[in-house]
Amino acid sequence: MKAAVLTAIAEPFVVEDLEYHPPEPGRVLVRTHATPFCSTDCTNWAGKFGKVPPVILGHASIGEVVEIGSEVRGVSVGQRVLVPGTPECGTCYYCAVGRPDQCSELFDNPRGYPVVATDASGTDIRASGNVGGYAEMMNISANQVFVIESDLPSEVLSLMGCGIMTGLGSVFNAARVTPGESVSVVGVGHLVLWAVQAARLAGASQIFAIDPIVERRELAAQLGATHVLDPTTEDVLDEVRSATGGRGSDHAIEAAGPAASQELAVSLARRAGTVVLNGVKELGTTVTLTQTTIAVQGRTIISTQNGNVRMRRDLPRYVSLLESGGLDAGPIITNRYPLEKINDAMQASRELRDISGLLVFDPS
Ligand SMILES: [Zn+2]
Ligand SMILES: [Zn+2]
Repeated sequence: MKAAVLTAIAEPFVVEDLEYHPPEPGRVLVRTHATPFCSTDCTNWAGKFGKVPPVILGHASIGEVVEIGSEVRGVSVGQRVLVPGTPECGTCYYCAVGRPDQCSELFDNPRGYPVVATDASGTDIRASGNVGGYAEMMNISANQVFVIESDLPSEVLSLMGCGIMTGLGSVFNAARVTPGESVSVVGVGHLVLWAVQAARLAGASQIFAIDPIVERRELAAQLGATHVLDPTTEDVLDEVRSATGGRGSDHAIEAAGPAASQELAVSLARRAGTVVLNGVKELGTTVTLTQTTIAVQGRTIISTQNGNVRMRRDLPRYVSLLESGGLDAGPIITNRYPLEKINDAMQASRELRDISGLLVFDPS
């Protein structure tokens, strides 16, 4: 099966034939339908998150189960499954305390990412994030596949495991926006475009979208932002405060990455407001915050991973929002690529030309 392998940091992906390993007792093989190219993988490609080549990137996907390990229960061959960025093992400390977004199967695995295949020279190839979605096949822990029952196309549902989960989870699970509240969003990429839609569904009366790129601000307005602001030409803090009685917004959601964006998000939230931080620019980046903004003024600063998702609760809810038309994927899918064009997909993501560029796979 073909896979796009990151063979060296900051070198083009190499699309090559790999020999996939048969699934171990607790794993499944999934034939990939579609995988969005995520902007996070531009950072991985550049070596800023510590990935070790050779590795297959792509941390959220969708496909069809083609083989199951001997101990796998609850999923069978032929079922369509979502492969999100987060497993839910159900037995680790974090799953036990209701925080599967921090599941030990993803974060505390001493063996590192799993070896899923071998290349022509016999070298082991690992799957980043336990997924490895930039490939025709995925070898996945049964704890990280979720049967999805919907008539929606895989292209749309492929966005569920990263963008939709993170964007919606930031609003519904982390910020917990309620009707009439105000929300600022910093950095209009795919996560924020889902967050804007979620804030609209939650009944937010004001949604301030902040981004230097005019086309992205326009998309945010199309999907529900009530105000759009250009941080390169406008005093964003002043604008948000003057539109909210001088206070700042009830919630501020950041999904940009740079430390300055997170510092801005903290400033945008009013006293006793909520700040949701998603972005990571590079391992080791530090954020500088004025002490009174975090010690005296009552803000709740929430660090999130994949929208602090609980898959078994959130997946059916979010699928139904897509099915009912409450969420619109149309403007977010900006391109489709065959696997062989993955380097074009990355370039478009790096240059901020794509929101979500999908790698789509031949169903045969
Ligand atoms: Zn992602
Ligand atoms: Zn767990």
